Amino acid sequence: MADQQQFLYPDDQSEIVTSIKKQKHRNAISKKLIAIIIAVMFVLAVTGSLAIYFFTFNTLLQEKERELTSASYLIAENIDLKISGDYSIQGSTALKLYKGDTDITGRDDLITGFFVPADMEISLIYYDTRILTTIADKNGVTAVGSGLAPQIASALKSSVTLSSDHGFFFKNTLINKDEYFSYYYPIINSDGTYAGAIECCSSYASIMPTVRKNIIVFNIIVVLATIILLLLIYSFNREVNKSISKLLSFTQDAASGNDAALIDAGLLRRKDEFGTIAAAVLEMHRSMRDMMDKDPLTKLYNRRSANRKLDIIMSHYTSGGSHYSIAIGDIDFFKKVNDTYGHDAGDAVLQAVATILQNNMKKNGFAARWGGEEFLLAFDKTDLETAQSQLETILDEIRAMSVDYEGSEIKVTMSIGVACDPELSKDQIINAADERLYFAKENGRNRIIAALPEASDE
Ligand code: GH3
Ligand code: MG
Ligand code: MG
Repeated sequence: MADQQQFLYPDDQSEIVTSIKKQKHRNAISKKLIAIIIAVMFVLAVTGSLAIYFFTFNTLLQEKERELTSASYLIAENIDLKISGDYSIQGSTALKLYKGDTDITGRDDLITGFFVPADMEISLIYYDTRILTTIADKNGVTAVGSGLAPQIASALKSSVTLSSDHGFFFKNTLINKDEYFSYYYPIINSDGTYAGAIECCSSYASIMPTVRKNIIVFNIIVVLATIILLLLIYSFNREVNKSISKLLSFTQDAASGNDAALIDAGLLRRKDEFGTIAAAVLEMHRSMRDMMDKDPLTKLYNRRSANRKLDIIMSHYTSGGSHYSIAIGDIDFFKKVNDTYGHDAGDAVLQAVATILQNNMKKNGFAARWGGEEFLLAFDKTDLETAQSQLETILDEIRAMSVDYEGSEIKVTMSIGVACDPELSKDQIINAADERLYFAKENGRNRIIAALPEASDE
């Protein structure tokens, strides 16, 4: 079935043509183009946003890790410099944290006053409990006494047994219901036992504005690019539409049967596909018109189109005054040419005669093949006398002509009748020319007759 669809005969396609003509297809192509661009830009926006999210997030995460790591080392060292000794808990009821002999419970000065980013929180953890901390919730309630997540505490303790003083970075630590990036630097007492850790953390929220900003900037660029693309398509589409409607109006005009349909000159001058299509369509229209209007052998107008052209010429003369002349010429003894040299030789003679007629008539009229070896010549704006003298020239050329056919020189003459009378109808004037042609045939051929002798009663 699909194959059949592709090779429909013209008659079968007429239904399709009718249905296409009914379609409203204004901007159909550009609508598709716009839909494709919007879809592509949407996919670009989504995938681009995701890529930017992950890239920005990871870059900032690495930066945070470096920041938190160096801050925790610095703070641990600083506390050791200020107060020496191991960490221990003393007291039986109110427990206090000591470093060496110094009670450091409530000594917030040990963890503050550093040049660290504003959003960085610092805590001193003993074992798995925050003893000193800058973390506080919205109501100002500090996180003093809050515990470490068990997996962090055990990771820290095991790092000490593995005798490594490397800390741990966690991407997602929940403190006071907020999410943090945090780094834990383990504190080890002089006997090698685990004492606690310095915790430096930054809230998740601190990097999100940068991530969001990057995504927003990217999407603004995508939206602007989309707008620019759509504007370009809009202006491109306007131009394309103009060309398409010019092509359409020509093809519809030509399809409706107007032989004189004109194609827009600007469209023809275009150097792009539209110019090529316009030239091809015009050429197609011309060759179809030629096929309809011209005789294939002699390339002269055929009888049908000659009649139409005569109507046009005669319509100019309804008011009288000017003249036009009509002649009919017939090759003498043409049957003999066929009989002697063959039909092809006869065709060659017809073509040679037609060339002479065509060349002489293009200035002020036209020549047509009226019948087998009979031609009609229409002289526009020409009186009988002038037509007669032009016909003499034509006849002389025919007499002088010699058609070389397979070694034979073929010569012919022509009898011509010519008439001129603005009062006569088209058929009447053609009849008058015909009568004079008949008279020429009866009176020796090879001549031009412009008037019949007055009828005499003798
Ligand atoms: P006359 O001087 O009286 O006109 O004599 P004629 O022989 O020219 O006239 P007739 O009407 O007897 O013969 C015309 C011939 O023209 C007959 C026909 O075969 C030939 N003819 C008509 N059309 C063509 C054509 O297209 N090609 C050729 N080769 N011959 C044609
Ligand atoms: Mg003849
Ligand atoms: Mg004839």
